[in-house]
Amino acid sequence: MAIRNIVCYPDPLLRKKCEEITAIDDEIKRLGEDMLDTMYEKKGIGLAAPQVGVIKRLITVDISGPEKRENPFVMVNPEIVEKKGETEGEEGCLSLPGFKGKVKRAAAVKVRYLDLDGEEHLVDADELFAICLQHEIDHLDGKLIIDYAGRLKKKMYENKLKKLQKHRAR
Ligand SMILES: [Zn+2]
Repeated sequence: MAIRNIVCYPDPLLRKKCEEITAIDDEIKRLGEDMLDTMYEKKGIGLAAPQVGVIKRLITVDISGPEKRENPFVMVNPEIVEKKGETEGEEGCLSLPGFKGKVKRAAAVKVRYLDLDGEEHLVDADELFAICLQHEIDHLDGKLIIDYAGRLKKKMYENKLKKLQKHRAR
């Protein structure tokens, strides 16, 4: 197991449309395990493969959080098959340090996915779990929470990033 580096905005890797996983081999299993570890280490509740630089359809989620670690999911080729209702909440992202933004989502989703043994599952999610799944599946299509923000908010964040980078370069 290993902690992987997080790819941050505006890295173009975050904008790629991820490929379906056709075989769950040792490399994919290791990726899933590393992503869980990385997600916990970075205090996240969800992580998508492009965030560690791998352009494949794999996500990890555990809404119990990095302290409890009670409900880990590793989902291969996750797909939303049903959406219900609407909700809006503030979200953050490990790839957008210092950014928080409001995002409109479905209130409940049904998601189909494969586990690391290749077994198919259907899971019904609502509340935080539903939001987290939609956020991570967005990543697999190159979509980020900053895309839901207005132009001004986006610009302000980009300026903030530039200042941070200048600061680091010193
Ligand atoms: Zn994210």
